[in-house]
Amino acid sequence: MRIPDPLFILGIPVHPITYPLFLDIVADFIAERSPRQICTANPEFVMTAQRDPAFRQVLQGADLVAADGVGLLWAARRLGHDLPQRVTGSDGLFYLAERAARSGWRLYFLGAQPGVAAAAAHKLAVRYPGLQVVGTYDGSPADSDFPAIAERIRAVQPDLLLVAYGAPGQDLWIARHKIELNVPVCMGVGGAFDHVVGVRRRAPAWMIRLNMEWLWRLITQPWRWRRQLDLPRFVWAVLRSGAASSDQT
Ligand code: UDP
Repeated sequence: MRIPDPLFILGIPVHPITYPLFLDIVADFIAERSPRQICTANPEFVMTAQRDPAFRQVLQGADLVAADGVGLLWAARRLGHDLPQRVTGSDGLFYLAERAARSGWRLYFLGAQPGVAAAAAHKLAVRYPGLQVVGTYDGSPADSDFPAIAERIRAVQPDLLLVAYGAPGQDLWIARHKIELNVPVCMGVGGAFDHVVGVRRRAPAWMIRLNMEWLWRLITQPWRWRRQLDLPRFVWAVLRSGAASSDQT
């Protein structure tokens, strides 16, 4: 399977994919069985990567970067490209679970608060009979926790490891450990387990439809306001970079 060429938003690659293509790429990665990393990026990722060279390197080296945030679709259009749709960790988890149940993929859920990953696994297994979540564990991205995590994961050898430690920590963690863990697909999923279980409510559907999920996060998690300052910064940087590239033409 040929992965479509990425487009670059402020130097960060983003792959123009749909959910069906995303699932087909995951299927290929699993068949090929060499460790791959998938990131679900949004404007905060892109702005963090401008400041943090280690995170930038992780995104640039990832095997697949999905456009999790609507801001990336806007930026792509603005820069004269097209991203067909958002491919989010939270919805992607349901699509993955459905396909995993049919294809026999073995999933491992790592991260979130104690009990949340297990509750998410249970809920998805009820919804998608036959789904194999072969392990769940909270742990932490701290180096001191790695041996215990690695031991659990190696014991069950999953096909897909979904990591919910928030960005950029989860993506840096995957990049650091993927070779050693030797799981075919490792993917950062942010708050996806929280959303499945309902410990944190995702924005209502009408708000997602109106591209206002970022506003929901600001209202329900006001402590993120500092992080969300990256949104206007992102808009400004994209407008400036669009102006710069049209100056050159
Ligand atoms: N989380 C965790 N350990 C950490 C940091 C975060 O398990 O050290 C979990 C947190 O409980 C939540 C998930 O990571 O389930 C995503 O957190 P956040 O809302 O920051 O995600 P993002 O907005 O980056 O997707």
